Amino acid sequence: MKTWNRAAVPSLTAYGHSEGESPSLHDVRTDRRLTLPTGRAASMYTCGITPYDATHLGHAFTYLAFDTLTRVWLDAGIEVRTAMNSTDVDDPLLERAARDGEDWRALAERQQELFRGDMAALRILPPDSWVAVTERIGPIAHAVQRLLDSGDAYRLPAQDAPGEDVLFDTARKRRFAIGEGSRTDAARMLELTREFGGEPDRPGKRSPLDPVLWRAERPGEPAWDAPVGRGRPGWHVECTVIAMDELGSPFTVAAGGRDLRFPHQEMQGHHAVALGAPLFSEARLNAGMVGFRGEKMSKSLGNLVLVSRLLADGARPAALRLALLDHHWRDDWEWFETDLEAAEQRLDRWLAWSQTPDDDPSLAESIVPWLRVTLQDDLNTPAALQAVDAFILRAPADDGSLAAIDALLGIDLRSIQPR
Ligand SMILES: [Zn+2]
Repeated sequence: MKTWNRAAVPSLTAYGHSEGESPSLHDVRTDRRLTLPTGRAASMYTCGITPYDATHLGHAFTYLAFDTLTRVWLDAGIEVRTAMNSTDVDDPLLERAARDGEDWRALAERQQELFRGDMAALRILPPDSWVAVTERIGPIAHAVQRLLDSGDAYRLPAQDAPGEDVLFDTARKRRFAIGEGSRTDAARMLELTREFGGEPDRPGKRSPLDPVLWRAERPGEPAWDAPVGRGRPGWHVECTVIAMDELGSPFTVAAGGRDLRFPHQEMQGHHAVALGAPLFSEARLNAGMVGFRGEKMSKSLGNLVLVSRLLADGARPAALRLALLDHHWRDDWEWFETDLEAAEQRLDRWLAWSQTPDDDPSLAESIVPWLRVTLQDDLNTPAALQAVDAFILRAPADDGSLAAIDALLGIDLRSIQPR
């Protein structure tokens, strides 16, 4: 699928290099800090949007976290390959389309286009491959067939249609126990399965946690012909197949918001192992959740703060970036309207500094090593912003610092207009 414009990322090699330095990152599966990648190449799969509602700050925060990781890797001279999906056929999208009397494809197209605009405005680097689920129905169906053949999946008659769904057998003994990959206990797994529409009480399931791999055609729903039966793919297997096809396995990092930890990312790991991968990914990273007015920002609660709305109201994209980067990527935090004004003021201070002349470049101190040190340390962007705040009080704007703020924080002070 078409992505969006890629912002230029200046090279910092002229200002000392960080060759060979991989960042340390907190991995959910092992609950440990890992230095990744161990070699000179890194690959990352990020769970994408379900395109039925525009980008809110929670999405922006997640994609910005992994954008920062990509920038840190690139600066370290690591060869980076990234992929992301778009869940362009799924229950919430179909429900929204039906509610509004819109064709589901048109809705997905429109929302994907909005997402492109929001991501480009925020200078979030596009993935190398952005793959819509509807572009990969064949390979996904093939994987489901393989899981049936290997005994990792079973058929269950649909209750409201003539066909049969295919479910993943979570109780089957594999390399990892269910719950291990997301550090989730049994009671919570059951609760989350219910919350995500996994129908734990559905009659005939071998285990309440078993997720749907293939959903038989239901009246009025889109479906595709496949050897496994006419239907459409389940959510977790889509990401599993797209990630493995694009990046191989294990790839370096599986990334997503913390709300995807269970069942989504957990099941990806089990699907991948059942499909023959030694491991789905070396690490699993979860970005924190953004709240608003006391609750997690979510479509169901209706407390969304949309990126497009803030930008239309005059927020500078760089200020919005600064407001988000001011929170550690793994933290849960709450958005306050005053955050944006504080970030606009910080951007003004940085801009004023960027226009101060550097009289003697040979004496220039540079922020490059400070930004590298803070970001290599589990992407500590709040500390990076503070480092810039302190730096601009004592040193003029040298080329290296301006390039580093652009390359690592995604803020090109040379292209931003003062208010
Ligand atoms: Zn996913």
